[in-house]
Amino acid sequence: MDRQSQLKNNLRILIEEIEKERLKYSSHQIINLIAVSKYVSMDDIKALYCAGHRAFGENKIQSLKEKSSTLENLPLQWHMIGSIQKNKINQLISIKPYMVQSLDSIELAKELQARLEKQNTKLKCLLQVNSSNESTKSGFSIDEAVESYKKILQIAPNIKLEGIMTIAANTDDKKIIESCFKKTKDIFDKLQDSGAEILSCGMSNDYKIAIANGANMLRIGSSIFKK
Ligand SMILES: *Cc1c(COP(=O)(O)O)cnc(C)c1O
Repeated sequence: MDRQSQLKNNLRILIEEIEKERLKYSSHQIINLIAVSKYVSMDDIKALYCAGHRAFGENKIQSLKEKSSTLENLPLQWHMIGSIQKNKINQLISIKPYMVQSLDSIELAKELQARLEKQNTKLKCLLQVNSSNESTKSGFSIDEAVESYKKILQIAPNIKLEGIMTIAANTDDKKIIESCFKKTKDIFDKLQDSGAEILSCGMSNDYKIAIANGANMLRIGSSIFKK
């Protein structure tokens, strides 16, 4: 099979699996799939676009910039999903990504707000929650997430907060992963009055658990782009 057909096939199988889990959760749930392209070439991204996919995620500003500018003629939706260094904020804003999912501190929110205001522009963001409480992962702790979300709404009018994102614990233990997603869903529920609409949880290894716990956005790389 050529690469194009293979990617098309990987995507079709994944979408069928997602659909099964979605229907188990609720037929009213609408789920967005972000194809995480951080490990792959422009050719793979183009091939997936030709298979009908539009939303892509990158975790480094440099690759986001290169890929989005090289492919600017395609109507793609770019999501920034990795940590953002403060000295790269202007670069990030100039790329005009569709959304930043990794808003992980008040300091970053303040910096972003200042630059966005200066450039008279807005940016859709998700608040990143560190649901596994692993020190290697960034994000707001479970305890401070709700309060911080509301604080950012107040202090950063140029940030359009649309929901929350989390990365579950890196483990094979389903109970632990489930606990991460349940805690994040609790936060999401508490933020309904504050306009939270997106719950971005679930990667290749844990997306079924994420859907069962209310995720409406998945970020999947390996199982789409595998050989
Ligand atoms: C890499 C990455 C993913 C996708 O992981 P896969 O296991 O390849 O599906 C999702 N979210 C974030 C933040 C990532 O860095």
